[in-house]
Amino acid sequence: MLESVFISDDAIAEYSDDSNLASHVKGLLKHQKATWNLAANGYKHLKSVQTREFEFDGYIVKVQFNPGRIISSSAKVDAKSIQNRKCFLCYENLPADQKGIPYFRDYLILVNPFPIFPEHFTIPKIDHVPQLIEGSLHGMFKLTKDIGKYYVVFYNGPKCGASAPDHMHFQAGTRDFMPIKSEIENLIMAKGDIVYESKESKIAGLGDNLRKLFYIESKDLKNTCQVFKKLFSVLELSPHFEDEPMMNVISYYDDNKWKVILFPRLRHRSDHYFKEGKDRILLSPAAVDFGGICITPREEDFDKITKDDIVDIFRQVSITNEYYEFYKSKLWGKFNE
Ligand SMILES: [Zn+2]
Repeated sequence: MLESVFISDDAIAEYSDDSNLASHVKGLLKHQKATWNLAANGYKHLKSVQTREFEFDGYIVKVQFNPGRIISSSAKVDAKSIQNRKCFLCYENLPADQKGIPYFRDYLILVNPFPIFPEHFTIPKIDHVPQLIEGSLHGMFKLTKDIGKYYVVFYNGPKCGASAPDHMHFQAGTRDFMPIKSEIENLIMAKGDIVYESKESKIAGLGDNLRKLFYIESKDLKNTCQVFKKLFSVLELSPHFEDEPMMNVISYYDDNKWKVILFPRLRHRSDHYFKEGKDRILLSPAAVDFGGICITPREEDFDKITKDDIVDIFRQVSITNEYYEFYKSKLWGKFNE
């Protein structure tokens, strides 16, 4: 029964400091660390992860050696592999100790037991429906504000790092953990292309960068959805996608505004992933990697990866300059004509 996976009101009251959703989510993590071994171990191991840092012009990229992420990074996401496994995001398959907070009876907020962030959550839809963002924009941006005090929300497309492409889900993590959040506004100011700006909202692009991206700022939930939909419809003009345009999205609420970074993609994984022996680098880029925290689950990759490798990996999975210019001009038309 669905209700049996909900954390009890008593547990929420015991572990949360406040009555808002963000505090309840924080409380959920405390509860799960205390009552669920897998989560307790996952967060204990996170304390010993190692990090390297690479400096670029106006931003940094960190590399995190995190062996706990091997399952996710090497996940087989082809149709056959997916069909042959039990869905780990369906509530009826959750481990007995895993509890969640329902969000409008649409989503379940769950602790991610294999964390990258000091606090890391997976937020599946309660129904088993495919990973596609367009029908879930309102939910994503509403959640962004509701837990925005402590967390950022992010989305990985079905072929862009989602390890369950058959079950719609977002993730959330510690608010100021990804470097891009504190860099993006300066980057846009220095090198960005403003596509549209009004009192209500702003949309900009950044093409001269390791990761090409589009950036939305808006004061209003409905408007955020509308602007995102326009951007989405422009990305749909590309012939290179199957279910939806390839993308990773990071969304947060700051200064009473929604701020959304969308990274359009051309590929799921770079050549490095498929090489053999010492040439292989097992790095499967998703939203967190695009946000400036590259995850290497194998120590050998963490030790050997260079700045040039990072540039090459992002070059291969991001859109090309030509695509960036094409999207930008189409977007300009949508907003200014
Ligand atoms: Zn499922």
